[in-house]
Amino acid sequence: MGPLARWTASMLDRLEDLYHNEANPPDLKHGEPLDGLILTVLSQNTNDRNRDTAFGRLKARFPGWQDVAGAEAEALTEAIRPAGLAPTKARRILTILETIRRDFGEYSILRLKERGRDGARDYLTALPGVGAKTAACVLLFDLELPAFPVDTHIGRICRRVGFVPPKAPAEAISVLLEREVPPGRYLGGHVNLIDHGRAVCRARSPLCGSCPLTKLCAAAAPGSEDAGRR
Ligand code: SF4
Repeated sequence: MGPLARWTASMLDRLEDLYHNEANPPDLKHGEPLDGLILTVLSQNTNDRNRDTAFGRLKARFPGWQDVAGAEAEALTEAIRPAGLAPTKARRILTILETIRRDFGEYSILRLKERGRDGARDYLTALPGVGAKTAACVLLFDLELPAFPVDTHIGRICRRVGFVPPKAPAEAISVLLEREVPPGRYLGGHVNLIDHGRAVCRARSPLCGSCPLTKLCAAAAPGSEDAGRR
C-alpha cells in the first residue's frame, strides 16, 4: 500500500468510526437497475425529495417501463414535473428506454453487469444525460460493480483535505478514489463521506473544531498534518 492509499485509509477509518456505514451499509439497490438509472436521471439538479416525488408519480401513472416508453412526451413531462427540467428529462428518459430496448431486447440493464465496470460505464455514459456521477451510482448501487461516485459533498471534502488539488473535477476524484481505496470500502466510504459533508464539512462554515479529519486536513486550522496534500 502506497502513502496516499494509507492516508486515504486513515481518513476513511476516522469517518467509519463516526458514521458506521461500512459496518452497516445502507441498501441503495433497486429491484431492476433500470429503476436506479431513471431515478438518477430524475435527480439531476434537484433534491432527493423532489426526485422521489417525481419517481413516485411516474410509477403511479406508468407502472411498467414499456408503459413509459409508449407514453406521449407531454404526459411523461407532466408526471415528472416535480423533478424540474421536466421536458428535457422526459426526452432523455424516452431516448434511454428506446436505446435499452434496442440493445438488450427488454427494458432491463441487468445484463450490463456482464460487461464489467469499465464496459458498463462506457455504455451508461453514452446515454443522453448520463454523466460520470450518474453512471457511477448505477454501477455501485444497482449493478454492484466497483465504482466510487463523487457528489458535491465528496468533491468538497476531497479538495479541502488535500486528497486532490483545489480545482480537481469530480471525475478525476472518482478515478483517484477507485485507485486508492479497496473496492470493499466504496459503498460505505461513499455514504460516510456524504454524511460528513452534510453534518460537519459543510459548504459554508465547516465545523473543523469537531471534525475527526482535522489532523489530516490541508484546509483545517493551523497544526494540521496535511499529509494527503498533493
Ligand atoms: S477539518 Fe474542516 S475543512 Fe477539513 S474535513 Fe474537517 S470540517 Fe472539512
